[in-house]
Amino acid sequence: GHLPEDTTVRELLQAAYDQHRHVVDGAVATYIPQLAQADPTSCAASVASVAGRAFEVGDVDARFSIQSVSKPFVLALVVEAVGGERARNLLGANATGLPFDSVMAVELHDHRTMNPMVNAGAIATTSLVPEIAAARGHHGGACEDWDVVIDGLSAFAGRRLDVDEDVYACESGTNLRNRGIAHLVHSHGRLHCDPDLATDLYTRQCSVSVDVHDLAVMAATLADGGVNPLTGERVVSARTCSEVLAVMATAGLYELSGDWLWEVGLPGKSGVSGAVVTVAPGKGGLAVWSPPLDAAGNSVRGGLVTRTLSRSMGLNVFASA
Ligand code: GLU
Repeated sequence: GHLPEDTTVRELLQAAYDQHRHVVDGAVATYIPQLAQADPTSCAASVASVAGRAFEVGDVDARFSIQSVSKPFVLALVVEAVGGERARNLLGANATGLPFDSVMAVELHDHRTMNPMVNAGAIATTSLVPEIAAARGHHGGACEDWDVVIDGLSAFAGRRLDVDEDVYACESGTNLRNRGIAHLVHSHGRLHCDPDLATDLYTRQCSVSVDVHDLAVMAATLADGGVNPLTGERVVSARTCSEVLAVMATAGLYELSGDWLWEVGLPGKSGVSGAVVTVAPGKGGLAVWSPPLDAAGNSVRGGLVTRTLSRSMGLNVFASA
């Protein structure tokens, strides 16, 4: 199966957006000014197909920080470099069932990181980046480590991405909890570089500036077995994609991931800026951005638009027809 034909996709995207764009529910994140100042009425959505077609609706020129939507893509780079089995052994693949920044999750579970879609596992994932840089012959430089991340995220997006330095500066001033998580994970022997370095790299990866089209193309690259359908570049292997999608399904929407699978039937990943990406394997990627969040930190309109699109385009992987 494929996505419906282009004119149908365009109509269904517009219809899903029109249906939900005026929903007033949820609250914009307030922990840094850049997020607190986001216009709660903003909404944009995009669909990118594995055939290399992309469609957008709404506030398509708006840029926002990628935040936790970076997690599956950095995981993909790490799985590709260190191998799926080693990544799973080091990082985990099971849901914690707890909020994204839970410290308790680290203490409750033997695995200590549990899942790369929540902060402990995500920071542990990023802590393997210096090992990737070293394997490429670059030793001990924070710039080289960062290049691995930004080059990889850019390849997923099919254009050169950059950090929003204001977001990065504010996040760096407020990331004490993530630094604490990194040190705690380190104390259990499950971090793979200096904990402050890992947290800084993770904070920088969350501060990358994107628009909704970028995110749909990134998701479509995971849908297309690791080949960016717009540039034709192979970013990661098909096997890496299927492993990352499995982890997204377990915890991509935090502690509401079961509800998400029930309603949408596809692996997704949300972030605190109000973005959510969804992958329809072999078909395409969806991205929605709208800042107001529910109690778990997931975009309210993002969930509604995605659920409608999954149904209207027949994308639920659990559906038999
Ligand atoms: N920078 C945020 C954090 O890790 C991202 C959280 C999110 O998007 O859910 O605290």
